[in-house]
Amino acid sequence: MTLTPQRPALTRPASVTPELLQRLVARVASDHSRTPWPLTEVYTGEVLVELPQSTPTDIERAFAEARAAQRAWAATPVKQRLEVFKRAHALLLDNAHRTADLIQVESGKNRRMAIEETCDPPMVMSHYLKRAERLLAPTKRGGPVPFVSSSTEIRVPKGVVGIIAPWNFPFATGLSDAIPALMAGNAVVVKPDNKTALSPLFGISLLEQAGLPKGLFQVVCGEGPDVGPTLIDHADYVMFTGSSATGRVIGERAGRNLIGCCLELGGKNPMIVLDDVEVDEWVQGALFGVFGNTGQICMHIERIYLPESRYDELKAAFVKATEALRIGAAYDFGPDLGSLVSPDHMARVQAHVEDAVAKGATIVTGGKARPDLGPAFFEPTILEGVTTEMECGVVETFGPVVALHRYRTVDEAVALANDTEYGLNASVWGKDLDRAEAVGRRIEAGNVNVNDSLATAFASKGTPSGGVKTSGVGARHGDQGLLKYTDVQNLAVLKKQVMGARPGQDYDAYVKQMLSGLRMMRRLGIR
Ligand code: NAD
Repeated sequence: MTLTPQRPALTRPASVTPELLQRLVARVASDHSRTPWPLTEVYTGEVLVELPQSTPTDIERAFAEARAAQRAWAATPVKQRLEVFKRAHALLLDNAHRTADLIQVESGKNRRMAIEETCDPPMVMSHYLKRAERLLAPTKRGGPVPFVSSSTEIRVPKGVVGIIAPWNFPFATGLSDAIPALMAGNAVVVKPDNKTALSPLFGISLLEQAGLPKGLFQVVCGEGPDVGPTLIDHADYVMFTGSSATGRVIGERAGRNLIGCCLELGGKNPMIVLDDVEVDEWVQGALFGVFGNTGQICMHIERIYLPESRYDELKAAFVKATEALRIGAAYDFGPDLGSLVSPDHMARVQAHVEDAVAKGATIVTGGKARPDLGPAFFEPTILEGVTTEMECGVVETFGPVVALHRYRTVDEAVALANDTEYGLNASVWGKDLDRAEAVGRRIEAGNVNVNDSLATAFASKGTPSGGVKTSGVGARHGDQGLLKYTDVQNLAVLKKQVMGARPGQDYDAYVKQMLSGLRMMRRLGIR
């Protein structure tokens, strides 16, 4: 493994000034009665800023302010609301590097991933700028009786949407899910992870610079179990991204409150490599799928199934490329891999590897923490011999660790890929696209990428993207990614009272007339 220059050479990005940090954290809803959270630079462990924490009263106040702002926003014509996002799109792209600076300091990811993350909210904006007006326009439908009745489907904003976001893509999950909610006329109260609150705070300041009304997009901070209950109890809808375990807690509370929720959860994502794969392209795709964002992507690959007939060749190529990856702390485009998000998370990843080895797995490459690089670095790791007796054989590791498995028949590979409680993402590789697609259709996952690991599905903003099984409920992107933030009002109009028997009409005659009317409408294709 090649190492990039180490900690002594590290200079924090010039844009991350104490003034900027203070300005950003000042907008957290907080009366400062709670001990602030020391938000650190991951590469060094140094405290960057004290992040204020929100009490239940602070959260109630944030919702009250959001609710007040939402009334005027919902009354603003859709076209006018969208103008804000046209300006915001340009502003977010103009500020991509400053945003990436903040993402990097708070998450420890490498520069390439930080820059790619900054592109997600503009891509979501761009998609819904094309779709939102049509989706939100009232749609006239037929009523039960032709000509004299009508029904109009009217989309009404839910009110205030609560968003709970994780640390792995803090800017994307803090902003991208809020965009369609805001376009639909809602206010938003977001709770980022304490570790990674800076980049979403910066993004919201850019939205306000673009003209988003003050008060409409609120930020509350704190540990999940402290903030979660008050947030859910005041929200009209909850959008949650995080682990499946926390997803159950959120879903239960939302259910008790009879509000809707969308849960985007974890995965144990498989990759099936077919025997006609083109090796070089696959290796590049697999490297990103496994080690991109230091393995902290919900859709990243943790299990690779290789055909017996080409196992040795494919393994050798993948191991060689993995060993050439550059890992290190840097704010430039040098390293291929950055840090994990925290020493705690690094310890969890390490524990998964140690548990696997103790139960008989073999480390092909990597497998060690790298305190010489920073407090939370872990080597890109390939394992063999992983079984379902091992933690990392069944539970999401969420780090730069992958298990290689061999298969004899495609049926066996599909069965192994589906042998999991998760169903978020899968990847299939092969030159014969029809064959690869056919295999993909057999995998129980909300997203399947053919000849890619994850990005093609996630970046297809027109198609809903979500998990099945314990990987989620609902989806983001596509029409439902915006419509879920609305209620439907069915506004039905009857021009003349024609339903039911006329005064003095014999009921048998009326029924006969009604049934023949239904038959005729069916014949004419009216109903
Ligand atoms: P997590 O569930 O621990 O935390 C996610 C968020 O929920 C954080 O803001 C946290 O503070 C908050 N939280 C924790 N407990 C809470 C509670 N009881 N009530 C309310 N909020 C609570 O997850 P994490 O470790 O921060 O994130 C990693 C997980 O997120 C992985 O499982 C990953 O697969 C998943 N993820 C999923 C997607 C997706 O789109 N499916 C995207 C990114 C990450």
